[in-house]
Amino acid sequence: MEMEKLVSLCRRRGILFQSSEIYGGLNGFWDYGPLGVELKRNVKEAWWRDMVSAHDDLATLPGAPSPYEMTGLDCTIIMHPQVWKCSGHFDLFVDKMVDCRETKKRYRYDQVRGRWVEAKGEKIFVTTVAEDEGPEIERRALKHFKIRSKDADQLAWDGPLTTLDKIDLADFTKALAPEASELGTFTDPRDFNLMFPTTIGALAGEEGRAFLRPETAQGIFVNFKNVIDSSRVKVPVGIAQIGKSFRNEITPRNFTFRSREFEQMEIEFFCHPSQSADWYKYWRDRRMKWWQEIGLAGDRLILRDHHPDELSHYSTGTADIEYAFPFLPEGEYGELEGIAHRGDFDLRSHMEGKLDPNSCPLTLQLGEDGKPVHKGSGRDLTYRDDMTNERFTPHVIEPSAGADRGVLALLCEAYTEDTAPDDKGEDQTRVVMKFHPRIAPIKAAVFPLVKKDGMPEVAQDLYRAIKKKFPAFYDEKGAVGRRYRRQDEAGTPYCITVDGQTLQDNTVTMRDRDTLEQVRLKLDDVVAEIERRVTG
Ligand code: ATP
Repeated sequence: MEMEKLVSLCRRRGILFQSSEIYGGLNGFWDYGPLGVELKRNVKEAWWRDMVSAHDDLATLPGAPSPYEMTGLDCTIIMHPQVWKCSGHFDLFVDKMVDCRETKKRYRYDQVRGRWVEAKGEKIFVTTVAEDEGPEIERRALKHFKIRSKDADQLAWDGPLTTLDKIDLADFTKALAPEASELGTFTDPRDFNLMFPTTIGALAGEEGRAFLRPETAQGIFVNFKNVIDSSRVKVPVGIAQIGKSFRNEITPRNFTFRSREFEQMEIEFFCHPSQSADWYKYWRDRRMKWWQEIGLAGDRLILRDHHPDELSHYSTGTADIEYAFPFLPEGEYGELEGIAHRGDFDLRSHMEGKLDPNSCPLTLQLGEDGKPVHKGSGRDLTYRDDMTNERFTPHVIEPSAGADRGVLALLCEAYTEDTAPDDKGEDQTRVVMKFHPRIAPIKAAVFPLVKKDGMPEVAQDLYRAIKKKFPAFYDEKGAVGRRYRRQDEAGTPYCITVDGQTLQDNTVTMRDRDTLEQVRLKLDDVVAEIERRVTG
């Protein structure tokens, strides 16, 4: 599937728009349209229901070491600045950035991909970089750069290329190298903190400085004690949160995949250290299964365990759930969710202060005065087990998913082109979004076959009855084949048509979006049948 087709369908059918489009858009920010908002809500609601509200805390679920509890939070986007100092984001939440000296354009260091080639006796770094084309989908541009950076050899990361692979490099260099004006040079890579700063109230300078949260997780850690003390939950317990996060990405790109404002669905799961390895395995498998259940059932979804070299010093295991997005080169995957064993790193940091991220085992990073550089809250965030009387700092397993990346993967997976007969029975190409019925923005559309003989009245009554339970759509305009086609594009799984026979025997046809099969059922059974298919 070509990404451009999906992007254009999303705009045309009101799934996604550029933010502030009438002013030219804002790079890295996206608005969900009428269909998109339903789709995204369905993903978030399915997550909340399956992980939190419908969780059975009395039973041991398959693969789980024991029964466990789940509860939720909704925390603020702006938090005390000390939170980010103790979490490590203030010092370490950085991406490497390079600037092209000539064009003044900025690139994420790891985004500059290419190869060294010899041209006119000079070594030139030929690269594809993501051109900053405004909020439109990235167009890969072919450029070549002379690298003067000291770190040039590191920069020459020979990753898979898309455009360049199809071109004979020697010819390419011969053709372009004489145009010296096209050559760019990069600055040395430097750190760029991704947190969005803001100011609280009228306070100037350091005093009023705060940040928009770059993840929802920290709100959960700093409320751990509040949740334990105010509710009857006991460890092992998961605390969940869905909410907006903000990252000042250097080059947002690939539609909503890398945005500057996005939504996360995160769980911090607190457990006894001796059981944490088993819980990690449980969550890793559970979360993979969940994405498969809501529609990413094909082989484009993978679970990738991090190599021990990739792990943070505090982590004994991390896995990513990744999807082969169509905008990525063949064989590359993009992260939808990370599941990390975080040990007691976060709770300890908020108790004791910023921990030195480079040393293992954990030690405090001390300033010249012998005190922690960033002081912790000093609060006791340990937990006492009522049964055993043991006091311990819980270990944490963190499944952290992106709602927007999830929606994007579901859109990519759903997009299908096949053939379906038109009104004359001739096969025509159709675009159909094959969403899982649970996720589909609209569950059912109701059509009167013609706009007369009392059919619209019967259809409208049915539409109203369905709407009491599910988002539904009523359409009486144009040929019925064209109406089906519009619903196929919106991903509506069931279309119900009221026809002449309905007026005789109170039955209607229900057409299945994917199989095109039409069954006749009683008018009175339609709502129950849709419910059975959507929730079953
Ligand atoms: P990446 O390496 O792609 O920047 P990350 O490893 O920094 O992602 P996490 O910090 O683990 O991401 O965040 C958890 C989830 O939040 C990711 O799996 C992803 O789904 C989502 N996410 C993170 N950054 C963005 C972004 N800029 N735009 C959209 N979603 C994002």
